[in-house]
Amino acid sequence: MTTSVQATTTVEYRPVQGPPVKIEVTSEQLHGRACIAGTDHPKPLVPAGHVYTGTAGAPLGWAVVACADGCTPPEEGTDSEH
Ligand SMILES: [Zn+2]
Repeated sequence: MTTSVQATTTVEYRPVQGPPVKIEVTSEQLHGRACIAGTDHPKPLVPAGHVYTGTAGAPLGWAVVACADGCTPPEEGTDSEH
């Protein structure tokens, strides 16, 4: 494999609108330096809610960004139950 793999963290993403979802983010995304839906997305980026890293009993919130046209991140795990 030639793809460079960045370490990801599973977090709870709470978008500005809608229910929280579990997603994986890279360090760049966690620190609000890349679109929450993809690190290769072009700017401009705008505030897009927060993610919460799962530390036991004390979740830590991080402000995240997304493309101005409204990206949503892919959900971690396929939940087909409705
Ligand atoms: Zn994007």
